[in-house]
Amino acid sequence: MKKVRLATTWLDGCSGCHMSLLDIDEGILKVAELADIVYGPLVDIKEYPENVDVALVEGAVSSVEDLEKVRTIRERTRIVVSLGDCAVTSNVPSMRNQCGVPAILERAYLENVTAEGQIPREVVPQLLPVARPVHDIIKVDVFIPGCPPSAQLILNCVADLCSGRMPEPSLRYKFG
Ligand code: SF4
Repeated sequence: MKKVRLATTWLDGCSGCHMSLLDIDEGILKVAELADIVYGPLVDIKEYPENVDVALVEGAVSSVEDLEKVRTIRERTRIVVSLGDCAVTSNVPSMRNQCGVPAILERAYLENVTAEGQIPREVVPQLLPVARPVHDIIKVDVFIPGCPPSAQLILNCVADLCSGRMPEPSLRYKFG
């Protein structure tokens, strides 16, 4: 059987959802039987490839870089999965939404530093006015809630998707 091309990525997240993914322990052997991981922090591939079958996306869309990344993922991926509450609802990253970008930058780069505070104008990706859930930007096919989602839930979903089955209905098209 042809292996599924599986990608994982994070946007504005803490990487806790990826830690939970790693917690599937020996379940990774099952995933390895079914899929090749073609992109993500677990493999050393720099550019998001074409013809990805399943992408797990952790984190909210918070910056211009996130926006470009998530659009590229949608263009090149058959099934996009929002992995975890930051992707599904914008969760923790959206706590800054009430404050406005200037206040956040001043707090982080001027008020909370001990010397030579400076708001970066280069290298650090420009923040969007608010952090948004992934399905606000692109069509999402499957939602895996939780902060982080349990390893078992992730394994069940990934095993289903990599076997050509859609996960249970409560995880599908919840918002779209
Ligand atoms: S959902 Fe929770 S664990 Fe996952 S990236 Fe967000 S804060 Fe971290």
